[in-house]
Amino acid sequence: MTAAIIDGKARAAALRAQVASAVAVLHAASGRVPGLAVVLVGEDPASSVYVRSKARATREAGMTSIEHRLPATASADELLALVAALNADPAVDGILVQLPLPKQIDERAVIQAIDPDKDVDGFHPVNAGRLATGIAGFVPCTPLGCLLLIRDVRPQLAGLEAVVIGRSNIVGKPMAQLLLAESCTVTTVHSRTRNAAAHVRAADIVVAAVGIPGLVTRDWIKPGASVIDVGINRTDAGLVGDVDFAGVSAVAGAITPVPGGVGPMTIACLIRNTYVSACRREGVTPDPAI
Ligand code: NAP
Repeated sequence: MTAAIIDGKARAAALRAQVASAVAVLHAASGRVPGLAVVLVGEDPASSVYVRSKARATREAGMTSIEHRLPATASADELLALVAALNADPAVDGILVQLPLPKQIDERAVIQAIDPDKDVDGFHPVNAGRLATGIAGFVPCTPLGCLLLIRDVRPQLAGLEAVVIGRSNIVGKPMAQLLLAESCTVTTVHSRTRNAAAHVRAADIVVAAVGIPGLVTRDWIKPGASVIDVGINRTDAGLVGDVDFAGVSAVAGAITPVPGGVGPMTIACLIRNTYVSACRREGVTPDPAI
C-alpha cells in the first residue's frame, strides 16, 4: 500500500481564502475589520519568522495586523501592561503572545492575563475547560488544523480508534479532547507509556506530537491508518517529522508530509479563530463552512 499524501499546504490555502471571503462579507455588512495583535518579546530567530508569517497571513485575509515588539530584557509587568491594554482595545479581536518568552517572564501568568474571549491561540485555562466541557471557545490552532485534515480523509470519525502521541497543553491534550468530541475512542501515549507501539498499532488515526525525529516507524502502524505528523525537527538531513515518512507511507492509508502537512494549517486556523472572534464580538454568526 502507498499512502495518500495529505496536502496541508493546499488545504491551508483553501481555508485562508474562505476566511478572506468571509472577512469581506463581515466588513461589507458591519464595517468591521477583524484585528489580530501579535506580541514578540526578544529576538529569537524562529519566533521572528513565525510572527512575520502570522502578520502576513492576517493582512492577506483582509484583517488588521497589530505588531508589538518588546526587548528581551522586558519585565513581566511591562508585558502584562501591554496585554491589559490589548484586552481593553475594541479594535483587537485576537491576542497572541509568541512563545517561548524570556526566562524572567512566567508564561502561565501571561497566558492567564489574556482575555479568554480574545485568546485566539486557545491556551487560556478557560478555553481548555471550554474544550473539555463542550462549550464554544477557542481551540489551539495546531490540533484544530490536524482535525480539519483528519476530517478530510475520515468523514466518519465516530467509533474509530485514535492514538495521540504526546500530551502537551498546546498539542497533545487538546488533540485528544477534539477526537473525543468526535466520538473516537482515544488513547494518549506519552514518555512513560509502556509499549507505545502496541497502542499505536491498534489505531485507525495516529497523531504524533513528540519532537523526536522518526520515532513512529512502519511496524507501529496498522495498514490503512491515517497518520498526522505534527513534529518539526531540524536535523542534518533537513526538517523532518516524528514519523518515518518513507517507511510509514508504505503501510498507512493517508499521511501528512513534513514540511507541507500540519505546519501551514496552524497559521490558517489562527486566521480562522480571529475571524470567529470578530464575529462573536460583533454579534453575528460566523460562516458555518469555516
Ligand atoms: P512538548 O511540549 O515537548 O511535548 C512532547 C510530548 O511528547 C510530551 O507529552 C512527552 O511526554 C511526549 N514524549 C516524549 N518522548 C516520548 C516518547 N519516547 N514516546 C512517547 N511520547 C513521548 O512538545 P509539543 O509542543 O507538543 O510539540 C511536539 C512536536 O510538535 C515538536 O516537534 C514541535 O516542534 C511540533 N509542533 C509543531 C507545530 C506545527 O505547527 N506543526 C506546532 C506545535 C508543535 P511527557 O509528557 O511524558 O514528557
